[in-house]
Amino acid sequence: MISLKKDLKSRPKPFLLAEYCKGCGRCIAACPKHCIEYSNEVNPVSGYVPVVIDYSVCNGCGLCLLACPEPYGLMPENRKYEFQLTDPAKQFGPRPTAETEPREIPDQVIPLPETEPLVVKGTYAAAIGALLAGCRHFFGYPITPSTEGAELMAKVLPHLDGVFVQAVSEVATVNHIYGCGGTGLRCMTFTSSPGFSLMLEGISYLIGAEVPGVFVNVMRGGPGLGNIAPEQGDIKLACRGLGHGNTHALVLAPADPQEMLDLTMLAFELSFRYRNPVIVLGDGYLGQVTGRVKLPRYMIQPGLPSWAVYGDREHRRNLICSIHLSEADLEAHNRRLVEKYRLMEENEQRADLYFARDAEILLVASNTPSRMVRGAVKKLRDLGVKAGLFRPITLWPFPIEHLKPLLPGMERLIVVEASNGQLEDELRLALGREEIVPHPPIHHIRHYGGVLPQVSEIVQAVLEEKEVEP
Ligand code: SF4
Ligand code: SF4
Repeated sequence: MISLKKDLKSRPKPFLLAEYCKGCGRCIAACPKHCIEYSNEVNPVSGYVPVVIDYSVCNGCGLCLLACPEPYGLMPENRKYEFQLTDPAKQFGPRPTAETEPREIPDQVIPLPETEPLVVKGTYAAAIGALLAGCRHFFGYPITPSTEGAELMAKVLPHLDGVFVQAVSEVATVNHIYGCGGTGLRCMTFTSSPGFSLMLEGISYLIGAEVPGVFVNVMRGGPGLGNIAPEQGDIKLACRGLGHGNTHALVLAPADPQEMLDLTMLAFELSFRYRNPVIVLGDGYLGQVTGRVKLPRYMIQPGLPSWAVYGDREHRRNLICSIHLSEADLEAHNRRLVEKYRLMEENEQRADLYFARDAEILLVASNTPSRMVRGAVKKLRDLGVKAGLFRPITLWPFPIEHLKPLLPGMERLIVVEASNGQLEDELRLALGREEIVPHPPIHHIRHYGGVLPQVSEIVQAVLEEKEVEP
């Protein structure tokens, strides 16, 4: 028979690692012997006031151990050795000094053989692009019409030693991306309009902390819950509203499944080049439509950036932080970010031109509506009308440098879009910022709620010189 007295004696008492104690006080409330109280001093490592234990009264009941939420705050005395194993200083030795700068491990481009084109839907194409770009970490919360992209990642990533996490929400998703991107690994999510808006605070943190990450937003009808049909109602959000602060991210607008793949691959490259999130802004139709997709002749084996907060000795000295408490520091940080945005504007403007160089009537459209415009331009040319298509591939920055040379002699610009003028606003802002006055008159053809502009409607509107607004 075991004596109760002897048993109590043998129970391990709690051991406190003061630098890991957050001073939450849960152990104080849990202790029936009242032998835990706050110390009188702030711990210089943690900046918190930890607790102290009066061992003369402690009977080793263990209730404080159960109450402590910190993995290393309180632990049984006989497990002290585990701390020895997990303490980074003991695992990796002292932090590297400034003389041992972390090395940049460059990406490797791996050639691929030519293959037959695939016939896949847009979301699958984007997922394939991400995998070929070296993305092995996916975080997301399902939302129609983007979910199939996540489904494919869930199927494939486990076979590639990758990680697929269905997060508890979009807010959790963006913060997983913050953590994973901070380690220098390539990660992404698929989402759709209401989900994207939930991620905005986190995207602002990513931009502030200069952490890369790719967000594929397959836009659906809005506002609010809206419907699951295609719209372009998030252009304003992606180009002008990525959370609080002075935020910008490159916004890429694919127009078919091939570009869903190509631009998602490009998004990873740009995201790491600028240490900034990149938004791939598709629409509900693009997410679901099936098309021929040619695979690239290469894939990327990612390296590791020198800034990564990675779990090895070399990168231990790195720190990613978006807190700049002094006004002067925060202004200096913002100046750096603004300079980065300037570089993006200078180097990353992309556009596709179709019969645009001699056009007298230039139709401006992106995403799925640009496909209808392409059909309309063909018909108008057959009728002898000098129409053309200007398709911004980067919605931010708006590719004004590609548009400028087309403007002299232009009779009319017509913006064709599935939103209430959000693309037109980007065009007008770009013209204004470049002080292009006067510019050709701007007309528009607009639909909302999942209704897309039709080829015949565009042709008629051009011929009759009328605007379309439901
Ligand atoms: S083991 Fe029990 S008695 Fe000892 S400090 Fe923790 S709660 Fe208090
Ligand atoms: S419960 Fe843990 S973290 Fe909270 S005060 Fe006690 S030891 Fe510290």
